[in-house]
Amino acid sequence: MMNKYDIDESLIGNSKDSLMTFMYKMNKNTNGIVFVLDEEGKFRGVITDGDIKRALMTGHTLNEMVEPFINTASITVTAEEPEASVERKFAGKVCIIPIIDKEQKVVGFYKKKASMPIADPQLNGNELNYLLDAFVSTWISSSGYYINRFEEDFSAFCDSQYGIAVSNGTVALHLALVALGIKAGDEVIVPDLTFAATINAVLHTGATPVIVDIEENSWCIDPKEIEKAVTPRTKAIIPVHIYGQPCDMDAICAIAKEHNLYIIEDCAEAHGALYKGRKVGSFGDVGCFSFFGNKVITTGEGGMCVTSSEELSNLMRKLRDHGMSKERRYYHEVVGYNYRMTNLQAAIGVGQLEKIDAILNWREELEEKYRNMLAGIPSITLQRKDLPERKKVAWLVSILVEADKRDTFMAEMKQRGIDSRAFFIPLSQMDIYRPYARECKVSNQISQMGINLPTNYRVDEGIIRKIAEIAKAW
Ligand SMILES: *Cc1c(COP(=O)(O)O)cnc(C)c1O
Repeated sequence: MMNKYDIDESLIGNSKDSLMTFMYKMNKNTNGIVFVLDEEGKFRGVITDGDIKRALMTGHTLNEMVEPFINTASITVTAEEPEASVERKFAGKVCIIPIIDKEQKVVGFYKKKASMPIADPQLNGNELNYLLDAFVSTWISSSGYYINRFEEDFSAFCDSQYGIAVSNGTVALHLALVALGIKAGDEVIVPDLTFAATINAVLHTGATPVIVDIEENSWCIDPKEIEKAVTPRTKAIIPVHIYGQPCDMDAICAIAKEHNLYIIEDCAEAHGALYKGRKVGSFGDVGCFSFFGNKVITTGEGGMCVTSSEELSNLMRKLRDHGMSKERRYYHEVVGYNYRMTNLQAAIGVGQLEKIDAILNWREELEEKYRNMLAGIPSITLQRKDLPERKKVAWLVSILVEADKRDTFMAEMKQRGIDSRAFFIPLSQMDIYRPYARECKVSNQISQMGINLPTNYRVDEGIIRKIAEIAKAW
């Protein structure tokens, strides 16, 4: 029910320090708490994120000393106290208990095991610094240093020449479709297993989506099914790199070339994934990304279109900004949108992007841990990572179990405080999309078996062991 942790610099502060200093420390330690020591290093009490919020909401400022806000009534234990007795002290709102030695020094702390969410953004790099910088610069709207920097750096990361930052991943898809001239009467091929945003973006252009089945090994759109679905009205394909797995881009590009179709890659779940050593998003005419809170990297809400076509990039930029002429202010050349991202969001994005390699490594290592600990359990099949030419990223660790056991499995995890998600319901299984679907046997089967497991910094071997135990009990 609880874990024991050591103390580091970010967990302790001085009673004469400012609330700002404490806020920075909390942002680093991600525990929402800092232990307060006096001049001699003796434990005085704690400051929590809630204490800071209350101070700010009652007219105090971050440069005030923490002294008057210290919670001195907090429970403490000694290192000798038996764990069973510590456990009993976790009542009500108490979720962290410091361990104090004879000299009143903090030597560690116990933390109640909280329920394990599926995803949890990690914002303890430079995100807060950049956000504050953007804020004090007063460039809080949709132009500013961080917007340009985020567009340049992220498009470079994606092996693409141009980046157009937008409000979210859904409008990134819509912007790309509109810029490519997709309209009523056109057909756009989409996979059956995806988040609804993919097809909604098509429907909002007035075009007709055509839903096709997925590959059994990759869970991505099946090129053979694309080929069968092409008609003289087909204008574009939207391959979705689902759950971090790249689509078969050689086959898809060949079909697009043969039939003169556009490709818009939906990369919302696959930042950094590679096909033949090249980043996804760089194969199609446009690559569309999402920076929603649970994605590989986040800006809260946010998205980006990447492309290597200067013409498309200019057009998307114009459409993003009400269709306004670049040369003549308030002269509108096309009917556009306001799809802009703010400098504040981009500031967080730049902080996230700086450490994307570390984030991807950490994700891969966590997935590997899952892989090792769940290997050999016959009731579990892990997402493939050995498909030729494809290097997936670990967005949410994904497994298949027998369809009739899936919901029980998730309920049993829930009971142990472990959150999980069932795979997306196939588009073809929802009334509003069914009329656009071709036969989709594989996706229907896979979607009933699939579970996304917690993929966040708090997942440790203990959590994975619990999941393994549930599966082994069958
Ligand atoms: C998240 C997601 C989107 C939409 O992104 P938002 O930023 O939430 O609008 C689109 N496609 C897929 C496959 C996604 O997972």
